[in-house]
Amino acid sequence: MSSLGHDNEQRQSPDGDARTAELADRLGLVRRRIEGAVHAAGRTESPRLIVVTKFHPAADVRRLAALGVTDVGENRDQEAASKSLELAGVDVKWHFIGQLQSNKAKSVAKYAASVQSIDRPQVVEALAKAIAREKDATGRSDLDCFIQVSLDDDAGAHRGGASPSDVEVLAGKIESAGGLRLSGLMAVAPLGADPDAVFEKLTGISEALRAVHPAATGISAGMSQDLEAAVKFGATHLRIGSDILGSRPAVG
Ligand SMILES: *Cc1c(COP(=O)(O)O)cnc(C)c1O
Repeated sequence: MSSLGHDNEQRQSPDGDARTAELADRLGLVRRRIEGAVHAAGRTESPRLIVVTKFHPAADVRRLAALGVTDVGENRDQEAASKSLELAGVDVKWHFIGQLQSNKAKSVAKYAASVQSIDRPQVVEALAKAIAREKDATGRSDLDCFIQVSLDDDAGAHRGGASPSDVEVLAGKIESAGGLRLSGLMAVAPLGADPDAVFEKLTGISEALRAVHPAATGISAGMSQDLEAAVKFGATHLRIGSDILGSRPAVG
C-alpha cells in the first residue's frame, strides 16, 4: 500500500541511522503536544520531559541524548544499572520510576538522580543509608525523592503507591533523612479512570503537602495517553515512553 511506503524507506538522519530519524519524529510530535497543552493551560513554563526507555536498548538512550533528551526513566534496577553503566559517558539523568525493593537501594544510589516511586518508610530508610554511603565514596549529590501516591478508589485498578493519608508521614521521614531531598509527588492514573479527575485530586494532595513542605513543588504525572490532562493540572514532570519509543517488546 502506497500510504505505508514511507515506513520502508531508509530515511537518514545526520548520523545515518533510521532509528534516530524515527525517534526524532516521534519526539518532535510529543514535544509539540506538550507545547500545545502548556499553551492551552495558559502556563508559562513547560514541564520537564522524562523519556521512559524501559525495555528499549541502551543504544536508544544514546540516540535520544543526541537529540537533546536530558532525562530518562527506568522501572527495573537491573536494566537501569546495566544501561547507565554502558552509557557512563553520556550526559543524561536517570530517574527510577518503578517499584523499588529495599535491597536494590544500594544499586539505585549509584546511578539515579531521582526516585519517583517512594511508597513506604522502609524504602526511605534504605535509600538514606545507600545515598550516605555513595556520598562518602563518590561525593554524589542529594537524591531527589518523589512520593508515589495511589489514586485508586478501586483496588482492582491498583497501580502502586502510598495512600494519600500516608503522604505526610513519608514526607517527614524523607525531609529528616540526610542526602534525600523531598521533591514532591508522583502518580499513575488508574486504568480506566478519568485523567482530569485523577490529576485534579493529585493537585489537591500536592497543595496540602506544600503547606507543610513548601519546597516540595514537584508533580510527576502524565504518560503517553494522558499528558494533556497532567499539564492542565500542573504537572512539573512528564514520563513519556511508548509515544516516543514505540510499543515495548513483550517480555517473559
Ligand atoms: C512505563 C511507565 C511510564 C510511561 O508510560 P507510556 O504509556 O509508555 O508513556 C510512565 N510512568 C511509569 C511509572 C511507567 O512505569
